[in-house]
Amino acid sequence: MTIRNIPTLWRFLGMLGLILGLLLGGTWLTVKTTSDYLLYQSATDRAQNWANFLAENVRDLEQIAAGEKPSAASLAFFDSTRKAGEVFRYIIFNGYGYSVLLSDHEKVTPVELSDFNPDAARSITENRPIVDAKDGRARGEPNYFSEAFVPVMVGERAVAIVAAYVDQTGERNRFYRTFLVAAATLCLLTGLSFGFPAIAWYWRTKEKQQADRRIRFLAHHDVLTGLANRARLIERLESALAVLPSTGGIIALHFIDIDHFKEVNDTLGHDGGDFLLSSIGQRLNAMTRIEDMVARLGGDEFIVVQTQITGKEQAEAFAQRISTILSAPMYYKEQEICTSFTIGVALGLADGITPERLLKSADLALYSGKAAGRNCIRFFAPEMDEAVQARIALEKAIRAAIADDGFILHYQPIFELGSKKLIGFEALVRLLGDDGTLIPPDHFIPMIEELRLMDKLGAWVLREACRTAATWPENLTVAVNLSATQFESGKITETVAEALRTSGLPANRLELEITETLLLNNNERTMAQLKELKATGSAIVMDDFGTGYSSLRYLWKFPFDKLKIDRSFMQGFDNSGSDVETVVKTIIALGRQLHMRVTIEGVETATQLNFLAGADADQVQGFFFGRPVPASEISANILSGFNRTLRLPQPAKSPRSRNVVPGLRGAAGTSL
Ligand code: C2E
Ligand code: CA
Ligand code: CA
Repeated sequence: MTIRNIPTLWRFLGMLGLILGLLLGGTWLTVKTTSDYLLYQSATDRAQNWANFLAENVRDLEQIAAGEKPSAASLAFFDSTRKAGEVFRYIIFNGYGYSVLLSDHEKVTPVELSDFNPDAARSITENRPIVDAKDGRARGEPNYFSEAFVPVMVGERAVAIVAAYVDQTGERNRFYRTFLVAAATLCLLTGLSFGFPAIAWYWRTKEKQQADRRIRFLAHHDVLTGLANRARLIERLESALAVLPSTGGIIALHFIDIDHFKEVNDTLGHDGGDFLLSSIGQRLNAMTRIEDMVARLGGDEFIVVQTQITGKEQAEAFAQRISTILSAPMYYKEQEICTSFTIGVALGLADGITPERLLKSADLALYSGKAAGRNCIRFFAPEMDEAVQARIALEKAIRAAIADDGFILHYQPIFELGSKKLIGFEALVRLLGDDGTLIPPDHFIPMIEELRLMDKLGAWVLREACRTAATWPENLTVAVNLSATQFESGKITETVAEALRTSGLPANRLELEITETLLLNNNERTMAQLKELKATGSAIVMDDFGTGYSSLRYLWKFPFDKLKIDRSFMQGFDNSGSDVETVVKTIIALGRQLHMRVTIEGVETATQLNFLAGADADQVQGFFFGRPVPASEISANILSGFNRTLRLPQPAKSPRSRNVVPGLRGAAGTSL
């Protein structure tokens, strides 16, 4: 039993005691009144009988009452009745209330010095018995007896008064016993008939109180972890923030989110997910002080409010500790769960003076931490508000575009340097923004990957690019960029095959561009998928070569068909015989050795083109020849194969003067 139950118990016991007291008191009163009444009746009857008996047997009663001596017969009668029955004493009074004869166990004595007795006088004037109950105090008196004054009637006339003293001790005891047994039975029955409902009432009340307490608890707590819920957190935060202006000090709100919680749920099931959430709740509870608050907002979001701190450093150290403690492995059914956490921190009152604002600030910090790749701690900064709004808008646009084909493909031409001919296009995706502007892929692809929607977008790009390329002359290829995340589901080969089948495009007209990031973890599965793709007949291109790790190991691990030297090399080119030129020439030579064609991207000037011609590159691509444009803007001329020869610039002319790729209408390319 808990302390909280005690008042109810005492209340209940008190009430039970009161009922019992009333019951016992009432019963006792009833027993007493009833037995007194019966004893009175009995005493009166006996006294009356006794008086009648005297009147019948004592012939000279009237004379005795008048003061004469009793006759011998009367004396003999008196003597014989001295010890008779329960009348242990009697006194005869005259009609005025003066005693004339007394008979008791000892003897029968005519009274010489007469006493006046007012009760005797009253019984004669009122002509009724006067009865009084007494406790025996004098020696020889019974414990309980009644004194009854009864007028003795001869015909209609009262000739004397007899006071009969009736021993009622036995009778009274009998009455009491009988009544007490009856009362006890009554009490018991009443007790039972009240007691059962009372006990039932008590338990019901107790259960109701427990249910009420549970409902109150649930209204303020999270069922799974037992931690405070949002409502309770807001309530407590409100009080904590309200006192800050007067007490001073800082509070830090740590908004904690489990990285990739969905994966835990997917691999370990919901029970595993629940286990992780409750364990986190326990760890957080264990590491916080009593004055701090721990809450779960729902899902995989937890809050810790660290109170009474002096500055940001303290909050930072604490957030670090939270991250370390929560990241320690836990075991569910002998399986190790290792998770990382992203924490957004906001400080009160600087980042919010209301609970809602402080929570929002911490949430924004968390959001920015997630955007930065998770597994980190971020403090709120005012500019996050804007950045997050932009991200939220972008996410909305992405989801809408995925739902109703809101993406657009642009195509950028690729030329062969040797034959000076257009050989194909690279398909580059754009997102159509709300305001009709085109959002470049660098802005939205990382988010699509994060939202795990890259498979969907990638499949659409493949289908769309193949469908468009199938309408072009059959010597033109289309290059499609593949993201590393498209290899995770293991369905890329199938997706590519599907795009080729539905469009009717031969596999050898499709080039698939991948980047080094795909090969970083170098797993068997990725390699197997790359081999499958190559086996279909499509070319596999190593894109952005020369950036990142540029490990040559990948070049001999997989037989790429083509290397694309990253556009940053052209940006660093200044035609001064610098290291860039040496590196580009070396990569081209390396490609030759490995039987890979080499494409240079980002060619923007005629000078760059001149250098590349001398450096023996295979293919070129860049704004100098044409920017990426929608399929509808690629002119019929170029597609019909007319005049799509690349002409090298004349050394005398200014390299950037006229700049249109033959046949590319609307593109900022150059006719050379
Ligand atoms: P990337 O594969 O290296 O594509 C070439 C990028 O260089 C394109 O940018 C293109 O517009 C730009 N570019 C071409 N010529 C020049 C030039 O002369 N000067 C400069 N400064 N830039 C030039 P874009 O279209 O913004 O694409 C950026 C990146 O987004 C691509 O780089 C590619 O990695 C990715 N991407 C584009 N479309 C897709 C797609 O469908 N799937 C995947 N996974 N990634 C894509
Ligand atoms: Ca590319
Ligand atoms: Ca590239």
